[in-house]
Amino acid sequence: MAQTVVALDIGGTKSAAALVTGEGTVLDVMTAPTPGEQGPEAILRIASGLAADLLVTATARGHEVAGLGVGSAGVIDASTGRVLSATEVLRNWAGTDVRGALSELSGIRHVVVDNDVHAHAIGESWLGAAAGASSAFFVAVGTGIGASVVIDGAVWHGRRNVAGHFGHVAVPHAAGLPCVCGGSGHLEAVAAGPAMVWAYNRRAGADLVPLADVARRADEGDRLAALTIGIGARALGSAIGGAANLLDPEVVVIGGGVMGVGPRWWEPMEEALRAELLPPLADLPVLPARLGPSAALVGAARLVWKDLS
Ligand SMILES: [Zn+2]
Repeated sequence: MAQTVVALDIGGTKSAAALVTGEGTVLDVMTAPTPGEQGPEAILRIASGLAADLLVTATARGHEVAGLGVGSAGVIDASTGRVLSATEVLRNWAGTDVRGALSELSGIRHVVVDNDVHAHAIGESWLGAAAGASSAFFVAVGTGIGASVVIDGAVWHGRRNVAGHFGHVAVPHAAGLPCVCGGSGHLEAVAAGPAMVWAYNRRAGADLVPLADVARRADEGDRLAALTIGIGARALGSAIGGAANLLDPEVVVIGGGVMGVGPRWWEPMEEALRAELLPPLADLPVLPARLGPSAALVGAARLVWKDLS
């Protein structure tokens, strides 16, 4: 019987799930809003509901489910599958035994859980922009900014599972700006999507919500909009360049919702990044993520397949 894995991506606003084959083919993607404000029980009920639907689908396809791979928002202890900390977007998520709960609710015995950005990075390292590279520095820039150092296909979690919190490095562009972590002057406070929207609204006396609206204004010739996007892009690029000097990865891969702004954001970001690089890094590949929204599902599934191999 063909084997498959159920993959789950529990995000701040949306949860997604799919069947993923051993070759990384993604089948039967399903999504549902994450009821983050309702707490862990509701979040896990939605997640296990998606998994249950996919178990039925797998049976109909004649596939045997080998395990459940989960990427979740929050700081995750991948060795236990527990949430160590999380923002209030997922209320009371800290302390949740995601592995134990989902195993019980879904009936799937083999469950692997990791942070969603790490899952995304594993996906890109397996079959995406970093495929074939022995090391990669992956950065996701969206509502927040996360990163992942992948070496020989495995994520560097750090001693306390905090590695990759790239949004919380100090950068000059963010001096004095408050950060969601309670600190100030951090990259996320100037370069994440909501930070750029906030900065534009403050500069222009506007009241926009999505970053796409700021980008559209920039396209229409609004100089403050273009300036704001450029500042965020350059702040991120400089920080990634510095990280590349520290890590010397084979490849840098950048993904996340802010990528949707396009060349207006990418070009100043890459220019600022390359301006920071030490001379031996001049040919460092800096690539956009390739797997799109299913990257975290592919990566979460990969964690299960690796565990089973
Ligand atoms: Zn911070």
